[in-house]
Amino acid sequence: MTEPTSKRGLQTRIVHPEDALTPGFASFSTPVTRASTVVFPDLATMRALDWRNDAQWRYGLHATPTSITLAQRLAALEGGKHALLQSSGLSAISNVYFGIVKAGDDVLMPDNAYSPNREFGDWLARDFGITARYYDPLIGAGIADLIRPNTRLIWVEAPGSVTMEVPDVPAITAAARARNVVTAIDNTFSAGLAFRPFEHGVDISVQALTKYQSGGSDVLMGATITVDVELHLKLKRARMHMGIGVSVDDCSLVLRSLPSMKARFEAHDRSALALAQWLRTRPEIAAVLHPALPDCPGHASFKRDFSGAGGLFSVVFDARYSATQIDAFVEALELFAIGWSWGGSHSLAMPYDIASMRTASQWPHRGTLVRLYIGLEDEADLRLDIERAMTSALA
Ligand SMILES: *Cc1c(COP(=O)(O)O)cnc(C)c1O
Repeated sequence: MTEPTSKRGLQTRIVHPEDALTPGFASFSTPVTRASTVVFPDLATMRALDWRNDAQWRYGLHATPTSITLAQRLAALEGGKHALLQSSGLSAISNVYFGIVKAGDDVLMPDNAYSPNREFGDWLARDFGITARYYDPLIGAGIADLIRPNTRLIWVEAPGSVTMEVPDVPAITAAARARNVVTAIDNTFSAGLAFRPFEHGVDISVQALTKYQSGGSDVLMGATITVDVELHLKLKRARMHMGIGVSVDDCSLVLRSLPSMKARFEAHDRSALALAQWLRTRPEIAAVLHPALPDCPGHASFKRDFSGAGGLFSVVFDARYSATQIDAFVEALELFAIGWSWGGSHSLAMPYDIASMRTASQWPHRGTLVRLYIGLEDEADLRLDIERAMTSALA
């Protein structure tokens, strides 16, 4: 045992250890800097804090070196300048609402929006004095006719993550800019890789880092990414008031997955596109909704603006099958698990009743929709699994 170098008591030396990290150590990982209390060298430093500066240390809730490292990498990845981390994709969405809209304001949202976002807008409309209105996701430049003097925020989802309509984002953002309306995209589908929102006039990009950025189906986190500093500060102020923080251990997991994200996204993309093309040839399927296929609504926008689609698409079964039969198909799948979310290694399947989710556009299909998330399994095995489940459930 080495002799202690100071005369302090054992308990004091446990709280104030006298060891030092091995000098000269270096690795590829970002150190995990856990903190609630952040310690200031003196009062002058504490009093000189400026909340507008992201990379300064005030309190663990707001930022630590680990969380700021992740935020900066996400901003760089997506072509933004600033990023804020939230505790889930949904809390990133709520951060946008509370940062941008106030009582008396109007919000426009696509009819195919992520359902909890719809529910959020409806809740604010019911209890907080805003109006939330829905538009046909394929409205394009026609959005101009819906903008009112009090419209403050237009949501875009590209594509809608269940029904896959691809909006004409530049047409929507041009109309919004002409009227000084902020646009926010839920860009989770493209992971910030396959669609570059700031090149298409979007003001705020929202990511559910829970998906491809985590890649492991075991982390919940979100981000808002911006170019304009004043917009960033509006969101940052709301984030502070709401007490939104993230675990640096979770940040560390996402930092670990981020370098492999593009390779994973491309692998998901290859398998998903091959399976989507095969499913089009199947007599059980009435429509394959994959943005890279020509019959997907908004495909022309996808071709113009996107470089890939990743692992997510949907199929609509022929209307001769009952919803119960489609449930049996989903349950007969062995390699596709039943569960929400996506972005990890494992394939997933989920049936949806779309007609009940629409208010501003007509859903053209009569058969049941099943959303498929294509994981990293061998594509041939996934195909066999789907074939076998069709044979057993739909015969
Ligand atoms: C999953 C998801 C979210 C929400 O992310 P959570 O971290 O699960 O809250 C938001 N938007 C889209 C499109 C998503 O798929």
